[in-house]
Amino acid sequence: MFSDTLPEHLNANRFIDAKEEISGPLEPQHYKRFSEMATLLPGGRAKVRGSRDPFGPRVVSGELQCEARMTCQRCLQPVTMTLEGSVRWGLVFSETEMQSLDKQLDPILIEEGQLLLRQAIEDELVLLLPIMPMHDSCDSGWIPDPEPGDVSEKESPFAVLASLKNEQGS
Ligand SMILES: [Zn+2]
Repeated sequence: MFSDTLPEHLNANRFIDAKEEISGPLEPQHYKRFSEMATLLPGGRAKVRGSRDPFGPRVVSGELQCEARMTCQRCLQPVTMTLEGSVRWGLVFSETEMQSLDKQLDPILIEEGQLLLRQAIEDELVLLLPIMPMHDSCDSGWIPDPEPGDVSEKESPFAVLASLKNEQGS
C-alpha cells in the first residue's frame, strides 16, 4: 500500500498478520526531534513491511532514505547528507519479551497494541545522522588553523641567501 502520508501509528498485530506493506514520504513536520538536529529535506521515503515466521518474532523490516541539511564541521557552511538505512524491528509487547528477543532485531515496544511508526522511524533517522558532517571537499576557502608557535621571527635560509646575493651584487 502506498500512502500519501505515513500513519503516526499502526495496529501492530494486524500489520504483522496481514503481512502488510506501507510506504510513504518522510514529511519534515512529523519529525520535530530530528529537526532539532538537522533539516530534513522534502523527498525522503520510508517503506516497511510486516512478517512473522511460525512461532517466530513479529518483524517489521524496511528501508529509509532521505536527505538532511546539516552544518559542515570543517567550513561551517551547510552540507547536504544522504541518509540511508534499513529497518529490522522486532515487536515486543512486554519488557520480558524484549529480553528474549533475537539479538539481530531492534526491539520496539508495542503500547496498547499500537506500533508508533513515526516515532520508531524518527529514532532510526537520528541514528543515521553523522556525528561529524563534512563536505567531501570544502570549496568555501577554508584554511586550517596556523600551527601553534610563532614562526615569523625566523628568517628562511633562502631569504638570507637572497639578501647576501644582493649585497654582493651592489
Ligand atoms: Zn565544508
